[in-house]
Amino acid sequence: MVRTDPYTPSEGIYECIDCGHRPSESGRCPSCGGELKNISVPRE
Ligand SMILES: [Zn+2]
Repeated sequence: MVRTDPYTPSEGIYECIDCGHRPSESGRCPSCGGELKNISVPRE
């Protein structure tokens, strides 16, 4: 495993667009039930 990026994909590649919670599974936010957005896609 190479760790050159501070971002760790293994810990929550999804982010709740409502509360910012980062579960590791897709679907609904376990915290508030909001929609999850995949944040594993690198932004430029
Ligand atoms: Zn949420």
